Amino acid sequence: MLVYFQIYLFIAFAAMAGFYAYRGYRRVYNNIMLGKSEDLNDNTTERFKNMLLVAFGQKKMFKNITPAILHMFIYVGFIITQIELIEVFIDGVTGKHRVIYHAVENIPFLKFIYVATISSIELISVLVFIATVAFLSRRFLIKVPRLNKPELKGFPVQDAAIILISEIYLLTCIFSMNTADMALHHGEYGFAVSGLLQHFLSNWDESSLHLLERAGWWGHYIGVLLLLVYLPYSKHLHILLAFPNTFFARLNPKGYISNMPEITKEIKLMMDPSAVPPPADANAAPVKFGAKDVMDLSWKNLLDAYTCTECGRCTSACPANQTGKILSPRKIMMDTRDRLEEVGSIVAANNGVWKEDGKSLIENGYISIEELRACTTCNACVEECPVMISPLDIIVQLRRNLVMEDSNAPAEWTGMFTNMENNGAPWQFSQQDRLKWIDN
Ligand code: SF4
Ligand code: SF4
Repeated sequence: MLVYFQIYLFIAFAAMAGFYAYRGYRRVYNNIMLGKSEDLNDNTTERFKNMLLVAFGQKKMFKNITPAILHMFIYVGFIITQIELIEVFIDGVTGKHRVIYHAVENIPFLKFIYVATISSIELISVLVFIATVAFLSRRFLIKVPRLNKPELKGFPVQDAAIILISEIYLLTCIFSMNTADMALHHGEYGFAVSGLLQHFLSNWDESSLHLLERAGWWGHYIGVLLLLVYLPYSKHLHILLAFPNTFFARLNPKGYISNMPEITKEIKLMMDPSAVPPPADANAAPVKFGAKDVMDLSWKNLLDAYTCTECGRCTSACPANQTGKILSPRKIMMDTRDRLEEVGSIVAANNGVWKEDGKSLIENGYISIEELRACTTCNACVEECPVMISPLDIIVQLRRNLVMEDSNAPAEWTGMFTNMENNGAPWQFSQQDRLKWIDN
């Protein structure tokens, strides 16, 4: 009877978590799809290569070796500990104990593989534990400057703490479960780390060991389900989104800034006096330059925003930030995501229809004009990002909107704009006079 109750509880928890997790991931997907379309399906070989090297292989992380190694432990640990979860799941739905072990215990080679796998999980879990403590210390004791910038106050810092503490909680559950199990079965399984730890439980009676084993087992299972539900609200969603984000990263040369087709057309006409302008199309929708709000950005910009790990490598490399300007490319991504969440909830509350809320991504507590003007378009943030995000692309689009739709530019820039319009160059000389310096 107790076994059936356990199976029922196990499946009920999974169903509940599945429901809430689905809602969370669906919300993220719907929000990303609020962006404008952009075709990024070309050159799939190059895209797979990027995904394997950058997302799976963590290639860009290794520019900074210490955090890269610590991150690698956590990342590999995260993947590998899921193997043990397979057995937890099978045990949960069958109401049995260590189903895989008992299936292979009489086949020496398979038993060896099983024990080696669980022992590897335990050894990696020890490394993950060390890395997690190191990450907590870097953030809260040593206070690494990159992780203590103004944009991280409030929820972002809580979010980081929640995930790191959850990691320690899950590891504690795994070791409680395996160590108590080893002690209960007198070391029969032969696991590496829990085989050593079981000696600390040598004075425990059988019922206490059983209780500890069950607490670890259920604690691990419920912890994983809760993380699954929490992930769509956390910056740690990058664990999943890093893969599509690197796959769909733009393949343009470094520093490439896309032209606005309408402006390109104008410039071409300007540079060719014999060209005849095409007749105006009275039915064409009015052209909107740049982006004012998240719906004006492309779905890839919005995917970037949800993929941002808030690591701050971009901000550390940003010359504007280094010279004391308020611009932080990390904050650009965080603000874009926050505004997208706000817009997404309005759309969801109105059955998929956007209702104007009198705000936009520019100012309104999101990205300020001062931040946008501080960018030198140097591309350092894009170069540094470990998951191929481009804060620069968003900055450029917002700045284009400011200048071209709202004529909002500092007085020093307007002379240059006038010269561009009249002379086709930033200088105040007419095109005919450009080569006069040769005669002098
Ligand atoms: S492109 Fe702009 S935001 Fe990015 S690093 Fe350079 S100055 Fe900073
Ligand atoms: S944009 Fe990239 S580098 Fe910057 S904080 Fe986000 S993940 Fe890190």
